[in-house]
Formats: sequence, C-alpha cells, structure tokens
Amino acid sequence: MRPRAVPAFALGLVLLVTGCGEPGKTPSQAGAPSSAPAAPTPSPTPSPRPSPSRTTPPKPKLRPVPKTLPAGLHRSSGSRGVALTFDDGPDPRFTPQILDQLRAAHVTATFCLVGKQAKRYPQLVARIAREGHQLCNHSWRHDINLGRRPAAEIRADLVRTNEAIRAAVPRAPITWFRQPGGRWTAEELTVARQLGLRPLHWSVDPQDWNHPPAKTIIKRVTAATHHGSIVLMHDAGGDRTQTMAACRHLIPDLKRRYGISRLR
Ligand SMILES: [Zn+2]
Repeated sequence: MRPRAVPAFALGLVLLVTGCGEPGKTPSQAGAPSSAPAAPTPSPTPSPRPSPSRTTPPKPKLRPVPKTLPAGLHRSSGSRGVALTFDDGPDPRFTPQILDQLRAAHVTATFCLVGKQAKRYPQLVARIAREGHQLCNHSWRHDINLGRRPAAEIRADLVRTNEAIRAAVPRAPITWFRQPGGRWTAEELTVARQLGLRPLHWSVDPQDWNHPPAKTIIKRVTAATHHGSIVLMHDAGGDRTQTMAACRHLIPDLKRRYGISRLR
C-alpha cells in the first residue's frame, strides 16, 4: 500500500540478491545485473586537492577477488547423493514453503542464513534447525564484497551472524559459511576456518535469483546435476514463487535419481 516505496525496495532486493550467482560461469546470464555490483567505486584518480597536514584516514582498499576460486572450497556433497542448499533466508513467505516440501519428501537441506534475517525471524531459524537441516552463515547483510575487506571486518561480520543464529538456536551447530556471490578470497577462507566454519560453494547454479520461470530452473538443474552435486537455490531475497514451483518437481526427481544427502 505504499506504491512509491515498492520500486526502490525491489531494486534494493535485486542488488542484494544478484550476489548469489557465480559471475563468470555463465556470462550470458550473469552479465546483466550481477556484473554491476562486482565493480565497487573504482578509485583511480584521488582528489587533486592536497591536504597535507591532516587527512581523514583513507578507507582500506578492497583486496581483489582472485580470478580463480581459492583452494579448499566445498564444491561437492561428499557422497553420491545431491545436496540442496537454500540461500538468503529465512523469509516468512517462502522458507515455510520449502520446509514443507522437504519434510514431505523426507529429505534435509542446508540453509545459508543472512544474519539480519535470522535476527528478524528467529522462529523460522528454530524450525529449520528443529527439522534437521544444516545451518550455514551467509554474512550479516549479504555483503558480496565481504571477502575483500580487512580480516577483522570479515571476522566481525561472521561472528555477528553466528550470534544472531545462535540467539535463535543456541545448541544447533553452524557448520558452514558461504560467501555471497561466491566471491571468495583466500583471506576470508582463513577467517572462516579460524571460526570453525567450513567454506561452502556449489556446483549447480540455476540462477534462480534472476527469476527465470520454473521450467527453466528445472531444466538448468536437471542438465547440470550429477552424483555429488551441490545445488544452489534461494528461498529468500525476492519473489521465489518460481523456485518453489521448480522444487515441487526437482526434490522428488533428484531424490529418485541420485538421492538427496546431507553435506559431509
Ligand atoms: Zn546469497
């Protein structure tokens, strides 16, 4: 009922969510929206005006994202079964839907939770844990540049996110960390490991964050999945109606063909 607020909010969501694709993997699909956040304010020309005596300390430069993924990322399920992962939640509209589907199929998945969302919807975090799913830290506010920041900032973000999750489920293990957008740096892997979080990537990305129709999501997942795949999908961060519809086909189908396993 606030018509003018909607476009800005929607844009914000798009910017938030574009991180989950894997830039470079399928440039034709990922190119349009997701290349934009990849280039944060370049600073090739510092202000010519000198202020020698007192300058505000410069913001630390973001370290570059390596051209290839750093070693040590988990990119397969660890068994012959397929692992399902759902990112950016919890979300009051879609997370319950996917939890219902998973429960009906008697399978579990891994939920990569955004700290802000976990703080806002602790009951959903509690249901995720209670129903046997694995928990993954997905940063406090879905910062796709988190891996490029100073190690202390990365650490503070991951700790804050863990605390929000633990406030909802004090005893549930938080096993994994997934960098938004898959824009990993080696430094970030080190921090995650120091906090006891295992770095979780993926091997199948249907780019559902970009709202393709359900049949396209199904086609992409079906074509790319094999034994041991980790499938990346989203239960939050935008309208996930198409993902929910795709999962009604994919969950039973993947279960029948490969089995659906916990990450190991
Ligand atoms: Zn994400």
